[in-house]
Amino acid sequence: MNCERCKSFRGGEAVFRIRTDILNLNVCGQCAKEARDLGLLVEPLSDATASTEKKAVAATA
Ligand SMILES: [Zn+2]
Repeated sequence: MNCERCKSFRGGEAVFRIRTDILNLNVCGQCAKEARDLGLLVEPLSDATASTEKKAVAATA
């Protein structure tokens, strides 16, 4: 998955998610760093996926 912010000129791999009331973007490390500098909430994509999988397993069991 490419970064949804800078794919047009840098093409970074998305490894973080920026989440706000009006925004939900998968972004690369550089964009995530810039978002943090702006005070936005930034989550690692891998952790988000892991927690979703755990919830899915718990729901099944
Ligand atoms: Zn980016």
